[in-house]
Amino acid sequence: MRIVLVTTGGTIAERETTGKRVHLSGAELLSGLVPGIGHEIDVVDLFDLPSTHLGFCEMRAVAQAVRSALGGGADAVVVTHGTDTLEETAYFVDLLFKPGPTIVFTAAMLPPGVAGFDGERNLNDAIVTAGDPRSRDLGVLVVMDGEVHTARDVVKHHSMSLGGFKSPEFGPLGTIDEGRFYLARRPALLETFSFPDREPVVEGIKCYAGMSNLFVRAAIERGLDGLVIETLGSGQVPPRLMPNLREAVTGGIAVVAAGRSPMGRLLRCRYGAPVRVDGDEWDLREAGVMFCDLPGTKARIKLQLALAANLEKDQLRLGFEH
Ligand code: ASP
Repeated sequence: MRIVLVTTGGTIAERETTGKRVHLSGAELLSGLVPGIGHEIDVVDLFDLPSTHLGFCEMRAVAQAVRSALGGGADAVVVTHGTDTLEETAYFVDLLFKPGPTIVFTAAMLPPGVAGFDGERNLNDAIVTAGDPRSRDLGVLVVMDGEVHTARDVVKHHSMSLGGFKSPEFGPLGTIDEGRFYLARRPALLETFSFPDREPVVEGIKCYAGMSNLFVRAAIERGLDGLVIETLGSGQVPPRLMPNLREAVTGGIAVVAAGRSPMGRLLRCRYGAPVRVDGDEWDLREAGVMFCDLPGTKARIKLQLALAANLEKDQLRLGFEH
């Protein structure tokens, strides 16, 4: 099997020599693998960045590198990445490729040279996953700490733990047991957008108790293409935001509501209960806000790609609300 390894930086490739940050190349990363992995692996050292430095352009560059690798005949692609925004780049790429050849992201919580470095194991597991034909057609996968997650579900759940990546509500798709890929279930929610040729301006705002309308006002004044609002609970915002959110929608900003809670989705009509409160789900929906079942960070990626794909308003709403 022919696998292409695309490296992008992050802790997995970080090594310090006399206070300077040195990037481990893909070839160096591979040299730490268990012998006999049994695949032909080509390396593309794409860039060397902490994932906190990445944005739309770099994510698109990763997607392009994956596209070139697959176009060049690779059977599967493994991408190494920083952990902090891995879930975003992985989901970005997930939304651009139809189910087919395996694309796996992996990373390390600890840097090379530190006791317990997890990068070797994670890279090894990612290559095992990529090399197993049963990992095809599952969308982009994220392999960390012996677990195989979908890009859609996975989040960095813990800032330090080696088991910091979780699919909080529905769990991983599978595991790597003694170097064998074990697939327990298949993902149901896979969707694809066209490759973006422009970067829509989309920002995100998280709601909190006592928040003012400062950021929503700023979004309107800035003239965004899209805005993701991370609502409280099941889809509610502090009422003082409502006039500005209405103004944002009527002014042409695509506003998407996501949930601030780490699990669960947004309600539409408060279980059908007759009681309404200002800034509730009804208010948001009447204002034209689209409801989405993703965390805010991923809703933002999806909104950028949906807007870049120039979807009609109805298609856009359908894309978010299924
Ligand atoms: N700050 C690093 C990054 O995201 C952390 C890591 O790679 O684990 O690039």
